[in-house]
Amino acid sequence: MFDKYMKPDFILGSFLEVTPEFCLENGIRALICDIDNTLVTYDDPEPTEPVLKWHRALAEIGVPISFVSNNEPERVYTFAKPLGAPAFPKSGKPSRRGVRMAIEAMGSEPAGTVFLGDQLLTDVMAAKRSGIRAIVVPPIKDKKTLLFRVKRAIERPFMNKYIREGEKGNVKT
Ligand SMILES: [Mg+2]
Repeated sequence: MFDKYMKPDFILGSFLEVTPEFCLENGIRALICDIDNTLVTYDDPEPTEPVLKWHRALAEIGVPISFVSNNEPERVYTFAKPLGAPAFPKSGKPSRRGVRMAIEAMGSEPAGTVFLGDQLLTDVMAAKRSGIRAIVVPPIKDKKTLLFRVKRAIERPFMNKYIREGEKGNVKT
């Protein structure tokens, strides 16, 4: 039952593995991204050089990016602005709302749109509830709050299971 909503389609080591080649191979035509811990740490207000380079490479093959975050508008808009990307703060993931708005803003087809995030309970669940594919990457640097530790503890057995399934080829890694 949880698998239906939390099992990612891909487990990768970092957002940098979502290369133009990876997108072409897997029919990825648009990307919805989480920001915090997926692309940068909470301490980076703006895109870092690797993020800028990665974004340019995807733009060159015509893969647009949008941001769906549960964080505050100021954080999300400040980050998205240099990339000129549509951004939706306070999305309430696992709500489907942000995903729906991002797909609309990019004019993409759900079948070619993939969600890239670091959390099963918010990012992957928002994607799966919306009927789109999901890529999960390990968090860059976790916050140390109690809520975060509890969320990670809940995710851990599922993540371990999906990593094992990846070894069997049921999840692409
Ligand atoms: Mg995150």
